[in-house]
Amino acid sequence: MRTEYYTVQVTDGGIVGGVDGASDVFAEAAKLIRGGAPVAFPTETVYGLGANAFDEQAVARVFAAKGRPADNPLIVHVADRQQLDLIALTPSEWEQCLMAAFWPGPLTLVLPVKPGVLPSNVTAGLDTVAVRQPAHPVALALLQACGVPLAAPSANRSGKPSPTTALHVKEDLDGVLAAILDGGPTEVGIESTVIRCNAEEVHILRPGSVTAEQLEQALPGIRVVAVADIQNHRELDAADYVPPSPGMKYAHYAPEGELLVVEAEHHDEWLKWVSARLQEAKSQGHRTGLLTFSKKDGGGVADVVVVAGDATQVDTVARALYDALRTFDREQVTFIIAETCPATGVGAAVMNRLLKAAGHRFLRI
Ligand code: AMP
Ligand code: MG
Repeated sequence: MRTEYYTVQVTDGGIVGGVDGASDVFAEAAKLIRGGAPVAFPTETVYGLGANAFDEQAVARVFAAKGRPADNPLIVHVADRQQLDLIALTPSEWEQCLMAAFWPGPLTLVLPVKPGVLPSNVTAGLDTVAVRQPAHPVALALLQACGVPLAAPSANRSGKPSPTTALHVKEDLDGVLAAILDGGPTEVGIESTVIRCNAEEVHILRPGSVTAEQLEQALPGIRVVAVADIQNHRELDAADYVPPSPGMKYAHYAPEGELLVVEAEHHDEWLKWVSARLQEAKSQGHRTGLLTFSKKDGGGVADVVVVAGDATQVDTVARALYDALRTFDREQVTFIIAETCPATGVGAAVMNRLLKAAGHRFLRI
């Protein structure tokens, strides 16, 4: 399949498309989607790979393009509340309150699905559907042009770091999708927060840039439980463990090389240990990498040093993380050490992704 590439510029005055010969990018993209072909588009979190959520074949093409396991359901993106009402049962008072507070935005709610309207591959056969209204003007314009909700996972090969630029999408999926809308680098850089409300509490199934603290503020007095954190503890017996959100059991976000996350109380101590370990790896024939979140670390201790944002402003780390992981792949690095960042605010989500990328290889020295 030939992949069309459309540049879409977002300015204060609105969205300007139409480069590369198409007079109206959104009409073209909507035509492709209505014809059952997958199209990648930017959201404020990461790039998504969208299909008409009502079209079983189109959704199957998204799974195939990504190599995504069929038991990992997709997030359905909606333009507005009307589209939500087509696919989910009436949200509870809390859920409505959270939508009012965070939509459009990076919060995905797992809701009871309306029976009989979505093909079962969207929800992996569950009786719930994950839904969000994205905040990116290109995503919203595409949803409007399509007139249907879009089932859209991240636009990467399954297991790879999610794409935060159109180039990342191209690296992974060129030739297996119909078009890429390039709206520039994404703002947030990591995937949405996924939650599920029950009668007593709110469960965070996947941490993201909407934090537990923000959810608590929006629902005063309601308990917010970070279910996903539980999965960062290796003591759990994997054989007995049933993940609360199907996708959380898969290895994710991982670079090709082996990644080890290392933490120490004092920076000097950290650098000494890390330098020695990298030197040792180098002598074993590894091409080495160092992932840091501050400029002061690392010059010269690894073949490839990537500074991904600044840990004192953890949102900059979220924005830079996946591109950093992909840089190590492009540079064919085979052994990488990463430092940690504070697990506060969006930092909790950053550490969740980093530890998953490392297959939970984590050392405190
Ligand atoms: P992605 O589309 O790659 O951003 O991943 C979507 C995430 O949402 C995965 O972790 C899924 O397992 C999760 N998810 C989607 N639908 C549901 C659902 N019905 N119940 C629980 N988690 C879900
Ligand atoms: Mg994904």
